[in-house]
Amino acid sequence: MKKVYLMLHIALISVALFLLSARAVASERSLDQYVPLLPEVLDKALAIDPATGLYVQELSAGVYLITDGIWQSAFVVSDDGVVVVDAPASYGHKIPGAIAKVTNQQVKMLVYSHAHKDHIGGSAAFSQFEHLDIVALDGVARFLAEKQDPNRLVPTVSFEGTKTLSMGGKTIELRQHRNYHSDEGDLFVFVPDARFLMAVDTLAPGYVPFSGFDLTSNFHQYRKVFDDILAYDFDHFIGGHLTAIGSREDVEQTKAFTEDVYQTVKRIHDETELPVVMAATAEAVGGWDNKYLLFKAFLDTVAAKSTTEIEGRWIDKLAGVDVWTDSHVRTALIYVRWDD
Ligand SMILES: [Zn+2]
Repeated sequence: MKKVYLMLHIALISVALFLLSARAVASERSLDQYVPLLPEVLDKALAIDPATGLYVQELSAGVYLITDGIWQSAFVVSDDGVVVVDAPASYGHKIPGAIAKVTNQQVKMLVYSHAHKDHIGGSAAFSQFEHLDIVALDGVARFLAEKQDPNRLVPTVSFEGTKTLSMGGKTIELRQHRNYHSDEGDLFVFVPDARFLMAVDTLAPGYVPFSGFDLTSNFHQYRKVFDDILAYDFDHFIGGHLTAIGSREDVEQTKAFTEDVYQTVKRIHDETELPVVMAATAEAVGGWDNKYLLFKAFLDTVAAKSTTEIEGRWIDKLAGVDVWTDSHVRTALIYVRWDD
């Protein structure tokens, strides 16, 4: 009996020691401990024009990417006008001028990928265009009508499901997808002739997703978004952020990362014993009164072990692994413990 007690005591001490070291790994990294950006990601970075703060490139068949190196949007030049997709808060006001440099056609339509301010908060600059149609999902239109945000023009045309835009010989397919990112609705924009797909806030080519799997409000749906993207026949992929144009391989790679985070968190969660961690924490703090703290210690233990393992596998494959993996692990952990 004494031996069993001694072994339990040793187990508790080792959990307590792990808790201390895990905190050091996951949350106390100082700024100079982050790895430099991967050279291959730097090499692919689009060259922003210092004079305009923008990079504008025709990808294919009249479809242009426009970006400031952090946000990305697009426009399609047809024989009867221009369709713009998203007007980010940071450079939306520069988009009309950038379009005027490549075509004399008027901007006739603005499409919103979703309702978030960072992607459409520059749309007020488009009030200069007469007879402009602003197209969005019903949920986005309802939300923006309620918000009355002067920086986000309220849509004039809304729909649910799918909508095909035809203008001056160009066809643009809009399709509502699972709410992988925002609750109001997420829209994919596909231009078949250009083999161009825009699916905003899904992934950033070369990088791990932004914090918490791109701020997803639904990790269950987010896990499926990669297959949704790969079902399209595309060569040029725009995810709405950062420094590169994406390919199918980029989508495959982010899918693999996401599944690795999910599987790792699930395994470590399932093999970590809640009563053992709570007992070790109770011993460390001198009692069982603070139940929140004892349970948090369990979540912290699973998160820290998972983060350390995943970082080791991905640190030299994607950029931002040491920046955001702990946030991805937290998102996956909530799903694994409460939804899976
Ligand atoms: Zn967003």
